[in-house]
Amino acid sequence: TRAHVEAVAGARALNAYVLETPDQALAMAGASDERLAKGEGGPLEGLPLGIKDLFCTKDVRTTACSGILNDFTPAYESTVTTQLWRDGAVMLGKLNNDEFAMGSSNETSSFGPVVSPWRRDGSNAGADIEGTHLVPGGSSGGSAAAVAARLCLGATATDTGGSIRQPAAFTGTVGIKPTYGRCSRWGIVAFASSLDQAGPIARTVQDCAILLRSMAGHDPKDTTSADLAVPDYEAALGRGVKGLTIGIPKEYRIEGMPPEIGALWDQGRAWLEAAGAKVVEVSLPHTKYALPAYYIVAPAEASSNLARYDGVRYGLRVPGRDIAEMYENTRAEGFGREVKRRIMIGTYVLSAGYYDAYYVRAQRIRTLIKRDFEECYAAGVDAILTPATPSGAFGIGEKGSADPVEMYLNDVFTVTVNMAGLPGIAVPAGFDAQGLPLGLQLIGRPFDEETLFAAARVIE
Ligand code: GLN
Repeated sequence: TRAHVEAVAGARALNAYVLETPDQALAMAGASDERLAKGEGGPLEGLPLGIKDLFCTKDVRTTACSGILNDFTPAYESTVTTQLWRDGAVMLGKLNNDEFAMGSSNETSSFGPVVSPWRRDGSNAGADIEGTHLVPGGSSGGSAAAVAARLCLGATATDTGGSIRQPAAFTGTVGIKPTYGRCSRWGIVAFASSLDQAGPIARTVQDCAILLRSMAGHDPKDTTSADLAVPDYEAALGRGVKGLTIGIPKEYRIEGMPPEIGALWDQGRAWLEAAGAKVVEVSLPHTKYALPAYYIVAPAEASSNLARYDGVRYGLRVPGRDIAEMYENTRAEGFGREVKRRIMIGTYVLSAGYYDAYYVRAQRIRTLIKRDFEECYAAGVDAILTPATPSGAFGIGEKGSADPVEMYLNDVFTVTVNMAGLPGIAVPAGFDAQGLPLGLQLIGRPFDEETLFAAARVIE
């Protein structure tokens, strides 16, 4: 823990941590040592972790990297982090993310962008950021950068449309978004409640398996959390893929996809076949509607969730002549541009007169997307292999400033999984033409994270 605390303090230029908690880390590590000395250790005893700033941590500032929560200190601890501390993990601090988890590059954070430790020449610079200017992906950019730069052993993250898998792919780390309902959302700042899920980002598939087991589980405080036993994911790692059927969805071969992404996909297929899997082509015909439908459903839910930031209950308050003006001033000053854009889109698609044309239609598409996957699994497919992202990491400031849709296109391979509530894992599988990491994605049956871990282990 001490070595990690020092590494974190020595790597501030990456901007991965928005709050360091060294005293707490050392105290937790001390308590962990005492438990171990008594032979009482839990499964994560003494492991130093970073926590995405979307997870509420008791008495430790939690901002969701938004100006509107700049001085919010929760009086409660999220269920996921409570379970990690129960099992002996140690908190190094809070990690940067896109504001309210809205973004794909970690550039919308009120604390500024995170710098990926990867350089354009394909080397990992660690804490020495000379020559680095790539994004780590988002919204869990701080989590991915901290893991890639060795500033923690693993990190918590959240994924509403790809925010665990895309930054993992950009930084050569592993990230899993479990099935919707696998982890409790209690105490996690809400973005789009029907899509949000917590999960780990770590260096290896095994580390993710160990962390997810602690993070997952039924929680009576979240009515959408599933009342199912959590399997021993680590025990599933050695299962291999012999006898499994892996689907390759033809709709994911999108126009304009760089050749190295196609080559990576073929390589992944070859590895799985060599390990004994049967690989078949499958069709998920509604894939092309997933991205536009996501960008209706997610902002709609966000606009409703963000209504609570009114200058009264949490964080920032900017006074006005009356209460209406106070609301206006607080929200005008507290929210960033991307968040305001989502609130406007969300409010529009939910308004009377447009609700049927947009929101209801997007929900119908969501059902069709879910059905595509169900049919595929009913036909005997055990998991689906796709690229995790349509490209490798890009430069800070390079994408999305003139046209937000350019940024949204990053999510083309990941949002379908959230829309269908399925588990998805991103695993490093190769490099782009510049030597930057690329990831493959495996999508599983509901609550079958075990098959994903076993198959990802074959690819890693
Ligand atoms: N990039 C997507 C968005 O901006 C997904 C973000 C996420 O998964 N939290 O909505």
